[in-house]
Amino acid sequence: MNARETTILIVEDEIPIRRFLRASLEGEGYRLIEATSGQAALDLAARRKPDLVLLDLGLPDVEGLGTLRRLRRWSSVPVIILSARGRESEKIEGLDAGADDYLAKPFGVAELLARIRAALRRSEVRSEESEPVYERGELRVDLAARRVWLGRKEVRLSPLQHAFLAVLARHAGRVVLQGQLLKELWGPEGGGSPESLRLLVHGIRHRIERDPVRPRYLKTEPGVGYRLEGPD
Ligand code: CA
Repeated sequence: MNARETTILIVEDEIPIRRFLRASLEGEGYRLIEATSGQAALDLAARRKPDLVLLDLGLPDVEGLGTLRRLRRWSSVPVIILSARGRESEKIEGLDAGADDYLAKPFGVAELLARIRAALRRSEVRSEESEPVYERGELRVDLAARRVWLGRKEVRLSPLQHAFLAVLARHAGRVVLQGQLLKELWGPEGGGSPESLRLLVHGIRHRIERDPVRPRYLKTEPGVGYRLEGPD
């Protein structure tokens, strides 16, 4: 991947570190987008689909690990964690939450660039392997690209709607239990309810079903969960 075609999302609230990162990366020709909070990072990642994310762990709103967990519900973009706290347990937690690599502050430019190149190389290899694409009838869900089509028209979904559909597509043909969906979408502490799932499904059906009242793809298993019909 050419650096000029590579977009890196920097998620960092401290101005001096952002400035350092910008100076180090712009010189290499990377295209940069920046967020200073977890929520802004998730929004930017959904809209701009960066090729790599540099994620600070200490953020003002959703903390870095929470941001990473939420990102991982629908995105496989390589993530390198930046943390002032070089503790081993946090490194493991970060990698467990889905980070690809970890840099403890302070770090040098050469090390940063080497880690970025390595992460991008690995993700290129990954995307050359066949990533799952769900297809049935007119519906096509490309999990790697995070894009959905109905016929020839691309369907716009919110990050949460996309996360929901991605979970079902990975288990296509099987029922996914309400409890599992709640946990995958809102985390173990919750925040969602069966009613929030119903609303979510309602919204998704209006985008992916020709007749949302008689869904062809996204089926409800009353009292149990939801199922995306098996692929063609
Ligand atoms: Ca910080």
